[in-house]
Amino acid sequence: MGSTSARGSCLCGAVAFQVGLPTVACLHCHCSMCRRNHGAGYVTWVAAGASGFEVTAGEDQLTVYQSSTHGTRSFCSACGTSLFCINEQHPEIVDIPLANFDDPIDRPPEAHYYLADRVEWIPLDESLPDLGP
Ligand SMILES: [Zn+2]
Ligand SMILES: [Zn+2]
Repeated sequence: MGSTSARGSCLCGAVAFQVGLPTVACLHCHCSMCRRNHGAGYVTWVAAGASGFEVTAGEDQLTVYQSSTHGTRSFCSACGTSLFCINEQHPEIVDIPLANFDDPIDRPPEAHYYLADRVEWIPLDESLPDLGP
């Protein structure tokens, strides 16, 4: 029997969370918002079910940034780690960077997203499909 949950945290440890397994998806997002928000060529997200998602420590440390008309991105106020991306268009899912997990999750990255916005200075895993948009 595998694990039924996976835990993670921010850089300073003030904010901790857990998600239920199985997760919904894991993909590399190449959009410019993710790139700036994380200071990285692309961001590998884990989509987890909102029902099994819980902030287990430091909820009061989270700053929520309204990054679009229908979405928010939150980060740790103490260390700045980007954490949860929530989109009103699919509230049943919470997106969390794979980099912030302490435990293994149940799947490897499966696809690229927003590949049209990709930067040229990051090599791509060409074996993964392009999900658009
Ligand atoms: Zn922190
Ligand atoms: Zn993105």
